[in-house]
Amino acid sequence: MDAYAAIIERQGGEFVLDNVSIEDPRDGEVLVKVAAAGMCHTDLTVRDQYYPTPLPAVLGHEGSGVVEKVGRGVTTVKPGDKVVLSFSYCGTCPSCLKGHQAYCPSLFPLNFMGRRLDGSTPITRHGQEVNACFFGQSSFATYSIASENNCVKVADDAQIELLGPLGCGIQTGAGSILNALCPEPGSSIAIFGVGSVGLSAVMAAKASGCLKIIAVDRNAGRLELARELGATDVIDANTVNAQEAIVAMTGGGADYAMDTTAIPAVLRSAVDSTHNMGETAVVGGAQLGTEFSLDMNNMLFGRKLRGVVEGSSTPQVFIPQLIAMQKAGLFPFEKLCTFYDLDQINQAVEDTEKTGKAIKAILKM
Ligand SMILES: [Zn+2]
Ligand SMILES: [Zn+2]
Repeated sequence: MDAYAAIIERQGGEFVLDNVSIEDPRDGEVLVKVAAAGMCHTDLTVRDQYYPTPLPAVLGHEGSGVVEKVGRGVTTVKPGDKVVLSFSYCGTCPSCLKGHQAYCPSLFPLNFMGRRLDGSTPITRHGQEVNACFFGQSSFATYSIASENNCVKVADDAQIELLGPLGCGIQTGAGSILNALCPEPGSSIAIFGVGSVGLSAVMAAKASGCLKIIAVDRNAGRLELARELGATDVIDANTVNAQEAIVAMTGGGADYAMDTTAIPAVLRSAVDSTHNMGETAVVGGAQLGTEFSLDMNNMLFGRKLRGVVEGSSTPQVFIPQLIAMQKAGLFPFEKLCTFYDLDQINQAVEDTEKTGKAIKAILKM
């Protein structure tokens, strides 16, 4: 199958657009005609080789589209179905069987190693192999080979071009609140970093009935949007000590905190801005080997810190739930999204990274 893809050829480089060839789906695989794919921070950290995904590679891991063809043994989707592509997991290990797919021990090889587990890749360019299978999809392309496990079927009338980001960034932010921290109605939460993940958390915190939702960031535009989406208080970390301000405005510390920045000092502030027995979620992906420190005596007072991958979600359960919440007006994630054509992918990178103009860029194929 001839396709067109955006390829990262070297560390830190721009996306290069080129014609590629994509194999037919093998057993358990699904060929998807990609409608659109969101750009997530992890695409850019892999471009920068924070994670050792081999290059050249087709990235993209928030794809959505229509099933074109299925391999042998695929039973849950069929040609013509609209699907959102999420992360890949094995489906058979104890974590997956217990519904904790985001903590599957095969998560890293399945999502980051650029190959199927047998070492093959479905994409070639002018006869040369290109690394693919990124998050089981490599969806910065007009066609994608996914596995049945990471296809989430959605309704036939779904607005498919908008839904790709539910597969990673938006599910990560919302799930950290709705599946992991589970704040009680009336509780307080501080969210450090309000890009697409943090803003999704703000909306989910509001939907959960949190009464004090404090957004912390250095970008005035994002803080304004956080307020529009449900933040009751915003803190500009350029000028204010966020930790002191949160402790003051909550009368001793927030019930919950969340760090999306992956900056060790910010994570430390998030934990230190919770009160005794407060719980903090670490959500951002830092460079491999990054360490951080905490005050042991401060932790002694019942504070909890937990890591959360992909919002601790089972995509086939959680993504339809988020779509239903959006329909009901409880989760207006479309306000985060800006559309680009695939050919404008490097512009989308610049608007995401440099100017912050785009919070969630979505590339239309
Ligand atoms: Zn597994
Ligand atoms: Zn992502």
